[in-house]
Amino acid sequence: MMTREDIDTVKQLLASPKKIAIIPHRNPDGDAMGSTLGLYHFLKLLGHEPVVITANESPDFLTWLPSFDTVKVYEKDVEGCNKILQDAQIVFTLDFNTLSRVGDFMAEALRRVQAPFIMIDHHQAPDTYAVVTFSDTSYGSTCEMVYHFIQQLGEGHLLNKTIATCLYTGIVTDSGSFRYRSVTGTTHRIAAEFIDLGIDNSNIHSLLFDNHSHSRIQILARALQNMKVLPAYKTSYSTLSQEELNSFGHNKGDTEGIVNYGLSMKDIVFTAFFTENKDEGIVKISFRSKGGFDVNAYAREHFSGGGHVNAAGGKSNESLEATIQKFIATLAHTKID
Ligand code: 5GP
Ligand code: MN
Repeated sequence: MMTREDIDTVKQLLASPKKIAIIPHRNPDGDAMGSTLGLYHFLKLLGHEPVVITANESPDFLTWLPSFDTVKVYEKDVEGCNKILQDAQIVFTLDFNTLSRVGDFMAEALRRVQAPFIMIDHHQAPDTYAVVTFSDTSYGSTCEMVYHFIQQLGEGHLLNKTIATCLYTGIVTDSGSFRYRSVTGTTHRIAAEFIDLGIDNSNIHSLLFDNHSHSRIQILARALQNMKVLPAYKTSYSTLSQEELNSFGHNKGDTEGIVNYGLSMKDIVFTAFFTENKDEGIVKISFRSKGGFDVNAYAREHFSGGGHVNAAGGKSNESLEATIQKFIATLAHTKID
């Protein structure tokens, strides 16, 4: 929860109508877009002028979110977005802990902003750029934190179907549909409140998970064919090369969630999913674990990444083959159980 002092600071900042920029992390996911758009609708009801700016484009499975069409994309309109950032009187950063998570290019623009920042986030080790840092790793999603943020400001009466639809989205996607260990009784009570507010919960699940393109299913099939199992390390991994992705005419977001299949096998507690991205010159890696094995620590140590205990990401500047060799080499001196 926020401290009394933080609540007072936020209340003062929001006491009169303001121009407000709201920023999620690069490669936005359900929690990033759900939390920023949920906050957007809340701030509008308070009489402010908010704008959500993402570093790059969002995946297709999130474009149905209420007011998604108002979202600005930094890479597509640098000048316009710089103007919004310079005019902003408050900047909210949501679902990330360090400015570099928006990418170096946009991070530089954020560092030039004079306005006060407010961070709402559930990742470890938050940076200190914000005047209010509402950061707590015990929450399963930033969306759940935005719900508490609204309640703590004493504005829970403003929660409505639109805000709830956005916030429910991130709660669902970041909890693996209510299955991860971060899910609490409170998570379910909030979901229940959202259903009572009239959200179409069943349809939201469909829009998120039963809305795939044919190319995504072909990409999934290839990733499953490519899956390797290393029983001695209770580990599995899979890969998609740029060539494979191109051969299916892939779209952004097509690889979302595929990593989880690697954990769906008996006796496997650690999985990694490697996606080659030739445009960015990197291999993007997703890590997942069951139980006590801390993939956040693992990703930080070996692949310049981070995240949470059971879900983290990282990257490598080496080739796909070299990255996999390195991954396998780390397993021999990693305690996996
Ligand atoms: P995903 O594998 O779904 O991309 O990410 C899983 C979790 O790890 C998310 O919480 C995400 O924010 C975090 N994450 C993904 N990639 C990176 C990265 O390169 N650096 C850091 N610090 N966190 C990451
Ligand atoms: Mn999140």
